[in-house]
Parts: sequence; C-alpha cells; structure tokens
Amino acid sequence: MSTLADIIGNDEEFTQKDLNYWLEANKGYYNSLFTTDNKGYVQLMSPKILTNNANGVQPGTKINSDLMKRALENKTPFISEPYLAQTGNLVILISYPIFNDSDVYQGVVDGTLYLETDNSLGRILTTHEHLDESSTFVVDSNGRIIYHPDASRINENIAEHELIQDVLEGNYGSAKITNHKGEEYLSGYAFINETNWGIISQTPTSVIQVPLHTLVQKIALQSLPLLIIIISFAWLVAFRISNPINKLAKFSKKAITEKTTPALVDQINIHSNLYEVRQLYLHFRKHFQVLNSRIYRDGLSGLFNRLAFDYQIVTYFNQKIPHSLILIDIDRFKRVNDQYGHPTGDEVIKFLANTMQEVTRSTDQCFRYGGEEFAIILKDDDENDAYNLAERLRTTIAETNSPTGKPITISIGISSSNIKDEDFEAIIDRADTALYQSKNEGRNRTTINNE
Ligand code: GH3
Ligand code: MG
Ligand code: MG
Repeated sequence: MSTLADIIGNDEEFTQKDLNYWLEANKGYYNSLFTTDNKGYVQLMSPKILTNNANGVQPGTKINSDLMKRALENKTPFISEPYLAQTGNLVILISYPIFNDSDVYQGVVDGTLYLETDNSLGRILTTHEHLDESSTFVVDSNGRIIYHPDASRINENIAEHELIQDVLEGNYGSAKITNHKGEEYLSGYAFINETNWGIISQTPTSVIQVPLHTLVQKIALQSLPLLIIIISFAWLVAFRISNPINKLAKFSKKAITEKTTPALVDQINIHSNLYEVRQLYLHFRKHFQVLNSRIYRDGLSGLFNRLAFDYQIVTYFNQKIPHSLILIDIDRFKRVNDQYGHPTGDEVIKFLANTMQEVTRSTDQCFRYGGEEFAIILKDDDENDAYNLAERLRTTIAETNSPTGKPITISIGISSSNIKDEDFEAIIDRADTALYQSKNEGRNRTTINNE
C-alpha cells in the first residue's frame, strides 16, 4: 500500500486504468481500492461498479465517515476495526496517506477487505498448510471474529472468552479449550501489535490423541509375542521351582493325615535342575527316613512297633500277599518283674528281641506287638516254615540264659493268611487263639491254628 501511495503521490498521470491494474495485480490482497484528495473527495476507485463498492460512493463523492476524518486528520497509515459498510458488507479498511514529491499531503489511498467473502486474510490463513483438522481464526481488538473458516461465525463477538481476553491483553500462549459445540481443542494464540488483532490457532485434541492411541496399540501388538515368550518362560521357571516344592508339601500333608500308613518317602521322586530344590528334596527325604524309623520302631527293643505291624498286616491283606503270623508271649513275665525288678524285665525284653532277629531271615519282620508280646510276619503262607522258625526261636530261648541268669520260656501261636479272610484281623484272631491254646496247654510251646 505504501508503494501505491508513493506512486500516486509522485505521478500526476496516475489514472483510473492504473488503479484497475493495481487492483487486478493485488486482487489477492484487496477487494477494492480507492483514493481521495486531502478533503475526502473520492478521486479514483476500482472496481468502478457502484454495487460492488464497499462504501457506496463514486468519484467526486465526499466521504464524511469518522474513518475518513481520522485518515485526513492523522495523515498516518492505519487498519480500521471491522465495520458494516453501506452495501451491507463487513469491511476492514486499510488506509495509507499520499504525499507528493514536496511532502505535501494529497489525500489517502484505501484498500478494503470484505470479511465475509473471499479476502486476503482468509486466503493467507486457509492456504496456510494444515496437515490435519487444525484451523485458525482472527479477532479484532474488541474480540469480534474478523476471520473464521466457518464464515457464519464472522462478526461474532467472543470477547467474553478467557483465551480471547488473554490474547487481547497482548499475551501469547497456549491452552486447552472446549468450544461451543463441546469439542476439545488445543489452542495456540498470539497478539499482533500492528493491528491489535488476536490470532488463534486450534487443533482438535483427537488429532493428537488418535495417533497416540494408534502408537500405543502398535507398541502393544508388536511387543505381545515377546511378552508371551517372557511370561511363558517366567511361568516355566516358576513351575519348575514350585512343582517339586508342591509335591513335597502334598506328601508331607498326606504323611500327617494318614496315620495308619507310613509315608514312604521313596514314593515321591523329584528331579530338578535347581540345586536348591535338589538339596531341599535330599534333606526332606533324609528327615522323613529318620522320622519314619522313629515312628515305626519300638524304643526299648529296637524292633518294629505296633503301628508298623498294623501297616504290614493291612498291606499284605489289601494286596492279597500270602503271609504267616507268629504271635509270641513271654511266660510268667510278671514274675520276672516281681523277682528281678522292672529293669531286668526290660533287659529280658531286649534279649528276646535280639534272639528273634538272630533266628529270623531278612524277609521276616519282627515286631514288639504289646508289652511282653511279640510277632513275626513271614512273607509266605507255608505254616510249616512258620512253625520251624517259631520252634527254633522257642528252643533257643528256652536253652539260653536270659538277663535273669536263667532261661525264660515263651508261648507261641501261628496262623497263615487265607483267601477267605474277610478282614486283616482274621489272621491275628486265629494266631491269638493258638497262643491262648499254647498257654492253656502248659506254656513253652507252639500251636498252629489252621482252621
Ligand atoms: P502269662 O503270659 O504266662 O499268662 O503270664 P504273664 O505274667 O506274662 O502275663 P501278664 O499279661 O499278666 O503280665 C504281663 C506283664 O508284663 C505285666 C507287665 O508288668 C509286664 N510288662 C509289660 N510291658 C513291660 C515292659 O516294657 N517292661 C517290663 N519290665 N515289664 C513289662
Ligand atoms: Mg501277655
Ligand atoms: Mg506273658
């Protein structure tokens, strides 16, 4: 505009045609151009068609508007507030003073921008490269929208808006705002000193959030296989640690709850690559073996106890393994206690226990069944075998000095398993009857019950 003012001021031959040419050349910037003399009389105007003329004037008309008065008085360039021209157009006037060679004031050259139609402001802002749904709008110093991509919003006053107040105070910055439709935007704003306008750029938050979500999804999808591998590996390691420990825990629980069955630690077999787990298993096993030997052994005689006896008899019965039972009772043991004292009585019990172990084979199991009652279980249902063993024991005892200094005697009852037996106690009852018979028949003898 200053160049045009310069040319008009210095070239007296500047004609209507030149102005038309200027408007044509600068159509991108102004919707119309006109000049006045120093009194405000219109000289040239382009386009010359009256209906398109923003001010509704024609050459020779004197413009009496406040704006013109301001231009003539101040003799300085200015950009007007938006105003409604007589033609009904919302207009911004860009005014520039004209001085001739001798710096004498000649008038003004004015350019107009029609805010609601295609104009340079809009073109600059819309042709601005937006990669997304971002948009830019401009407010004048009163908070009135002078450019908006939505033309219907032009001339709307949004001075109330906090952001507008901030920008019109000369500030710049950014904020998250919600527009009148409830849509969230990220806004950047700046104040233009030259025109006192605020320019606000806004981007829907969705534009930023959508790629973010997509990125998160992409990362999640891409890392999923690795995540699955890591989780599987972690699960495998955890399983290899916890599985043997779990087995031990279950076994331990079973050992405590099932009182009649000895918990045989050999029943569980644990193979683990982990040193700690292997060590735990070995100690557990050893511990169980020690405990078992204590649980199933009689403290005085060192033989298996009644618990072990019950277990063995029940096992053979359940598994239908043929077996024989030898029940032994010391004759007149009360007298031994009475005569030699209880400690000697204990020694006699140990003596008998040792002798039992000496005369039996490794497959025969010796038990202390009760106080001075003993038992031998043979893995065989041949009563003659049992009888021979019983007699060998009985005669050895009867011929050997006991801790009393004299031999003692024992009475024996024998029975073998029978497929008709209904329960494991049947064989015990029969052997007991036989033992009772040995006692009745004078003691120091062996009786077989083969009913
Ligand atoms: P019999 O069997 O020949 O009919 O006569 P008994 O005297 O052996 O019979 P009884 O069953 O009446 O007596 C068994 C005795 O054994 C009673 C008890 O004091 C004694 N006794 C049981 N357990 C022990 C023990 O651990 N140590 C000692 N010293 N004596 C015991
Ligand atoms: Mg007895
Ligand atoms: Mg007795």
